[in-house]
Amino acid sequence: MDEYRHLLLAVDFTAETDQVVERAVGLRAKCGAKLSLVHVVEYIPMAYSGDLSLPDDFNLEQELLDVARKRMDALGERLGVKEGDRYVALGSPSREILRIVREHHVDVVVVGSHGRHGVSLLLGSTASSVLHHAECDLLAVRIKEVT
Ligand code: AMP
Repeated sequence: MDEYRHLLLAVDFTAETDQVVERAVGLRAKCGAKLSLVHVVEYIPMAYSGDLSLPDDFNLEQELLDVARKRMDALGERLGVKEGDRYVALGSPSREILRIVREHHVDVVVVGSHGRHGVSLLLGSTASSVLHHAECDLLAVRIKEVT
């Protein structure tokens, strides 16, 4: 474990995020590695019925990225992660996480795992998608449901 030099923590900013953050911070302390953060904005284009009067220059993508950047900066400050090691991307979470792993020589990715069953298991999860495609190690933190 002390061979880990670069950890990447993937955060979705749900109520469960802190459980995953806690494990990543613990691992960083144990192996003295650098910690980077990633959040991916999943933009699903919506077809408006025409009843919504949005300003012509309204850019949903940009709005979502701005909110994500603010949350990322707050988390980065809290965890002492340098600005340059806080990644905010747009697209598919697993694809973007894997891209950052490749481009920044990450040794281990830390993600949450819901331990799904049935249909949602068949549909897949970010953790299993990263596990199947990443060349580095994966720490899948089993998430306890927050009520
Ligand atoms: P899921 O099983 O897809 O709900 O996601 C479980 C874990 O994947 C989360 O706890 C995060 O670690 C990671 N994850 C999911 N969505 C995102 C996202 N949009 N950006 C970064 N990480 C994510």
